[in-house]
Amino acid sequence: MKGIIMIIDGMADRPLKEIGYRTPLESANTPNMDRMSKLGISGIMDPIKPGIRAGSDTSHISILGYDPYQVYTGRGPFEAAGVGLNVISGDIAFRCNFSTSNEEGIIIDRRAGRIREKTDEIVSTLNTIKLEGFEDVEIIFKESTGHRAVLILRGEGLSDQVSDSDPKYNGKVPKKVIALDGSPEAIKTAHILNKIVKISYEMLKNHPVNLERIENGKNPANIILPRGAGAVPDVKSFDDKYGIKSACIAETGLIKGIAKLAGIDVIEVDGATGGLDTNLENITNSIIQHAQMDYDFILINIDGADEAGHDGDLQGKLNFLEKVDQMVGEIMKISNTYFILTADHTTPISVMDHTGDPVPIVMSGPEIRVDEVSKFNENAASKGGLCRIRGSDIMNILMDLMNRSEKFGA
Ligand code: ZN
Ligand code: ZN
Repeated sequence: MKGIIMIIDGMADRPLKEIGYRTPLESANTPNMDRMSKLGISGIMDPIKPGIRAGSDTSHISILGYDPYQVYTGRGPFEAAGVGLNVISGDIAFRCNFSTSNEEGIIIDRRAGRIREKTDEIVSTLNTIKLEGFEDVEIIFKESTGHRAVLILRGEGLSDQVSDSDPKYNGKVPKKVIALDGSPEAIKTAHILNKIVKISYEMLKNHPVNLERIENGKNPANIILPRGAGAVPDVKSFDDKYGIKSACIAETGLIKGIAKLAGIDVIEVDGATGGLDTNLENITNSIIQHAQMDYDFILINIDGADEAGHDGDLQGKLNFLEKVDQMVGEIMKISNTYFILTADHTTPISVMDHTGDPVPIVMSGPEIRVDEVSKFNENAASKGGLCRIRGSDIMNILMDLMNRSEKFGA
């Protein structure tokens, strides 16, 4: 038996006046999800704990059976792993922006004209930074999408207890990075970061990529602003933890990074944008293809519904849920599989951010204790046989259904 967990990011919602006090899931036409409810067992799920507003990262960590309060040190490590850096336990990782500074040192554009091209060339230059007195610390940059990048500091005596240099608003100077806990490690790390920010401007102000941008009337990416420090956690590999071979098909670097740090194979799919325009057909084909390979478990994350939620785009969310429903219909055809459909958190159209409401969950597969629920939505699912569970219960339930778990006691 195989297991598939499909997470439709931010799918759950709250009742909305515009659609007759129903939720988007209650309002959208989702015959396949409803059929799955009829054939399966439903419930509601608190990704972390009741009322806790989960991020996508902390929720996925919890659903995979790790304790987010232990593993999660910030977004940096997961973003770094997600862009393909080989992070190791103890590395200090940061998210960075390529930004534009003027000659007075004021940040005039935090996103460097939303730069898209040739950030790899800028990164090559940044990767030559050597800091006098800190030769033992490796400085590794890697570009991400658009104006984003990641930075890793690797070496002895470093700490993630440092503040951000990103001032968050244009028209300000970069913030001086300070040690948050006063430890020698944090003082050293803050010192290194302040030097990197300063040196990045010296190295980049006349960089060929930037001279070309200036010539074309675009803001140059002439300074790098790190934020969100996190120490790379020591994570037991997912496959060792459960004794299975696993893969992940996800769209965002954040979720891919979580999978990578857990040692799960990350499958890249062409056209997977993480937006409403993503290529669900390619993703579906990839899932079907990899389910036929020797993977025991596949984690799927589809991001569009969350984006629509953050944008307050009701119609976009409704349309996207209906498209995802067709995908669910295809995945239901995979045989010998326990299939779990849920969300990682609620992203209400009315709130435009994540909330702590529980999300609906449904499981189908052989010998499931089918309940009376016949619709897939927040309200109907709450009457199902799974009742109310936590994200951290899901892998236990799945492994038990797959007859792969160990007995506790005699
Ligand atoms: Zn999410
Ligand atoms: Zn979100």
